[in-house]
Amino acid sequence: MTMEYSEPFDCVVVGGGAAGAAAALGLANAGHRVALIERRPRPVFSDAAPVTRVATLNVASMALLENLGVAEVVLRRRGHPFHRMDVWDANSGAALRFDADEVGVPVLGWTVEHLALEASLWEALENAGVVLLPDTNWRALDWRLDRIDVHLADQRVLGARLLVAADGAESPLRTRSGIAVRRNPYHATAVVATVATRFPHQDTAWQRFDHGSILAFLPLADGRCSIVWSLPDTSAQDVMQLDDDAFAQALRDALGGRLGDIESVSPRAAWPLIGRQAQEYARGRLVLLGDAAHTIHPLAGQGLNLGFADVRELLRVVPGSAAGGPASPSALQTYTRKRRWENEIMLRSMESLRWLFGTSLPVVASARAFGVGQVDRHMVLKRFFAVTALGSRGS
Ligand SMILES: Cc1cc2nc3c(=O)[nH]c(=O)nc-3n(C[C@H](O)[C@H](O)[C@H](O)COP(=O)(O)OP(=O)(O)OC[C@H]3O[C@@H](n4cnc5c(N)ncnc54)[C@H](O)[C@@H]3O)c2cc1C
Repeated sequence: MTMEYSEPFDCVVVGGGAAGAAAALGLANAGHRVALIERRPRPVFSDAAPVTRVATLNVASMALLENLGVAEVVLRRRGHPFHRMDVWDANSGAALRFDADEVGVPVLGWTVEHLALEASLWEALENAGVVLLPDTNWRALDWRLDRIDVHLADQRVLGARLLVAADGAESPLRTRSGIAVRRNPYHATAVVATVATRFPHQDTAWQRFDHGSILAFLPLADGRCSIVWSLPDTSAQDVMQLDDDAFAQALRDALGGRLGDIESVSPRAAWPLIGRQAQEYARGRLVLLGDAAHTIHPLAGQGLNLGFADVRELLRVVPGSAAGGPASPSALQTYTRKRRWENEIMLRSMESLRWLFGTSLPVVASARAFGVGQVDRHMVLKRFFAVTALGSRGS
């Protein structure tokens, strides 16, 4: 081990995306000595930077950010609340509208930019004394009795009493540790862009289902919308090749003109969509969270919310520094049992929803119209679905 890190860290987190950075901050706030390894440069937010990736966060995720002391700065950096959700099925015309007032909550969620989230968390990590290692790759792991040694590409070695894999969907740590993952390719791609619309977004998240195509318009602070258009792979390729005018027209038509003409579009990005579930969330002193543990179809905007739920549970089960080592087997077992089960339920629910709205079988289509109509008419059902989506069930 080099001079710099002669003592093992209580926790080493690999992956400084939103989930990893939040976990590192929570562990540091609980009194642990923490290091964070990230292969990309440090995230830096600027008001002049264009909007890039956006996520919708639910109430439970925002509560976590509040506990970590970063909610205010994240929201100041172009975060935006939404008060309504309008969801409809283009084929049957069935529609579902959630209104915060009706459901009895101040907001249904927020749109936040990944860069704002990550930069704010990293600033707080620095203030909390976490050893930050951006632009850093690891090359080998050495599993010892009392720690895991992480060998970095530049020859430094970090000992970890608890090693947290938050290194994303293709998690190199998960692979290297031999943890198997179940994959469910959706044969779909999400096309993502930022657009300006003729009519105001009305602080509403809009979502239209049309067989295999799911289009969401998410309201941004500057009045524009972030769009996520999940399409079968071949249709997505076609959409990526349209020129800007044709893309704007296709979006307008797909949304049925609800927000009028699309007045400008940003460059587009495409994300292949794959569901994943790791077979184990913990092995020895290694624990998985966020996309390293699971990925899900973005139709309900739940991926990062589930990652933050992992973080909350990890912080709940891992004892503070005064109470002993952070990698107690029973704590990690509790974490695995709870989080794997809850994520599995959400994964399967999303797969069923996708099938339900993707199928054109007449009997399913009419059941779908009936079901959506029932939910929309019954306040108890509506509250149930809203509260589940807000992430506040059981709390
Ligand atoms: C189109 C689309 C829309 C979405 N919309 C939403 C939404 O509205 N709401 C929502 O909750 N979720 C949404 N999601 C899901 C969400 O984006 C992810 O769940 C979330 O970003 C995962 O965060 P993470 O920190 O776990 O992983 P990541 O953000 O992938 O971070 C992993 C980090 O690990 C680093 N890393 C990887 N390998 C190494 C290595 N070897 N060494 C060091 N560092 C490494 C990476 O550089 C990266 O910074 C969406 C996903 C998609 C595809």
